Amino acid sequence: EVRVRFAPSPTGPLHIGGVRTALYNYLLARKLGGKMLLRIEDTDQNRFVPGAEQYIMDSLRWCGIEIDEGIEQGGPHAPYRQSERKPMYRQYADQLIRDGYAYYAFDTPEELDAMRARLTAAKVPNPQYNSITRAQMRNSLTLPEEEVKQLLDAGAPYVIRLKVPRKEEVRFNDLIRGWVVVHSSSIDDKVLMKSDGMPTYHLANIVDDHLMEITHVIRGEEWLPSAPLHVLLYRYLGWEDTMPQFAHLPLLLKPDGTGKLSKRDGDKLGFPVFPLEFHGKDAETGEPTVSSGYRESGYLPEAFINFLAFLGWNPGTTQEIFSMPELIEAFSIERVSKSPARFDQNKVRWYNEQYLRAKPDAELAQYLLTELNEQGIGVDMPTERLEQIAGLVKERATFPADLAREARLFFHRPISYDEQIVSKKWNAQVAAALTAFAAVLPTATDATPDGIKALLTQVVEGQGMKLGQVLQVLRMAVTGSGAGPDLMHIMSILGPQETAERLQAAVA
Ligand code: GLU
Repeated sequence: EVRVRFAPSPTGPLHIGGVRTALYNYLLARKLGGKMLLRIEDTDQNRFVPGAEQYIMDSLRWCGIEIDEGIEQGGPHAPYRQSERKPMYRQYADQLIRDGYAYYAFDTPEELDAMRARLTAAKVPNPQYNSITRAQMRNSLTLPEEEVKQLLDAGAPYVIRLKVPRKEEVRFNDLIRGWVVVHSSSIDDKVLMKSDGMPTYHLANIVDDHLMEITHVIRGEEWLPSAPLHVLLYRYLGWEDTMPQFAHLPLLLKPDGTGKLSKRDGDKLGFPVFPLEFHGKDAETGEPTVSSGYRESGYLPEAFINFLAFLGWNPGTTQEIFSMPELIEAFSIERVSKSPARFDQNKVRWYNEQYLRAKPDAELAQYLLTELNEQGIGVDMPTERLEQIAGLVKERATFPADLAREARLFFHRPISYDEQIVSKKWNAQVAAALTAFAAVLPTATDATPDGIKALLTQVVEGQGMKLGQVLQVLRMAVTGSGAGPDLMHIMSILGPQETAERLQAAVA
C-alpha cells in the first residue's frame, strides 16, 4: 500500500510551495489508492508559532486536500504530532550509539563557535563537524571511555551526533532527479538528539517515516541536501529494505525568475504567497502583521489548486483545466519537472477567471448578492433578474468582487457621463435619435435583447443614421461609461421603462 505524508513544521503560515508539496502527495496517494498522512514536525520548539498548526489544517481543507491519518483524524500510528512522540525516539539514538553509528558530544556552544571560527579563518569553504574536525572536539570518540562515563554520570550536557563515515559515496535514486551521489565528506555529523532530549528533525523524521510505513517521501528541493544523511540513517538503523522512495520537487521561483519565492515576497510583489490570510507578529518588533491570502483575495480553491498543480508538473497535453478528480487521474511523478517553476501571477488570475465564469449563474448571483450587501447596496429584484445580471457581467470578472463592480450600473443611474464620448460623439442628430428611441421604448412588445435591437435599428435608420453612429453614445447615456457588457442585454435587463428614463435624463 502506498503511504505518503505531508510533514510541515508549525513555524508559520503554509507557503504556496508547501501547499504544492501537500497537493502532489495527495494526488499520488489518491491515484494509487493509498493513504495521505499529516504529521506535525514540531520538535524545534524555539520556532513554534501558535496558530500555525490550525492554519495548516484550515488551508488544506480549503484546498480540498483530504487527510486520511493525522492529528485530527487519528489513525493506527497516533500520535501524529512529534512533540507527543518524544519518548519513542530515544531508543533509536541509543541503538545507533550501541552499534557504533552515533556518539555523545560534550562540546559547549563556545567550543563549537571557536571551531567554526578556526575553520573559517583557515578558509575552509563549508565548515562542518565531520570526521576530521570531530577528532579535535570533545566527544565520546576522542575522550577516554572512563571520562565519558564520568561526564554522563555527572549529568553533563551532551548531544548525540551521527558518525558520518569519512570516505564513502552515498547514493540513492530520486524519482524526479534520478541517481543522486554525494560524497560523505560533504555530510555533517548532524545532531540527532539535542541536550534537552528532543530529537532533531533528521532523527524524528526517519523514525516516524519508518514507523508510519511511509513508502514515498515527496518534498521540496530544499531537503535534497539532507537526503544522503537520511539514507545513512536508514542503513544504520537497519531499515534499508523498507526505505521510502524519494522525490524532491523543483523550486518555485519569483515571477522574474531571480530567485526562490519566499514567504516575504508575497505582499511585496503584489500577490499572495499564502493560501489563507495570516495574522501573525513581526519577528523583530512584535507588531501584529497581516499577510494576504488567496481565499480572501477572491480566488476559488479549484482555480488555485489547478494553477498550483501546473507549477512543476504538466499532463503532456494541451489541456489546462483540471478538476481535482481529473488531476488525480492525470498525475504522475514521472511528469514532475526537474527544473524550477516560475510563479506567474497572470496565470493564477487566468485560472480564476476560467473557474469563476464556468460557475452556474445561480451561484454567481449568490456571490454578487454577497458582494453587493457588503457594499451596502440594497438589492430588490427577482432572483431570476439577479442571475441574468451575474451571467452577463461574468465575462468581465476575475474575482467575485468584480461582479459587483460591473453590476453597479443596474442599481445606480449614471451620475456623470464619460467626457471624451460627450465631446467627440455627442451631436444634435444623435440626441434626436436617442429621444426618438426613448419615446417608443415603453411601447416595445419584445423586450428581449434581440427585440430591443430590432426596435433600435428601426428608429435609428428611420432617422437616416446607422446603428454604429449611435451605439457608444447610447451606452454612455444608459450606463455613464463607454465600455461594459453587451448593451442590448443591459437594456433588456433594465427593461424598456427604466432604459427610456435614463435616456431622457441624458438628453435633458
Ligand atoms: N518538517 C519538514 C518541513 O517542514 C519536513 C521535510 C520532509 O518532508 O522531510 O518541511
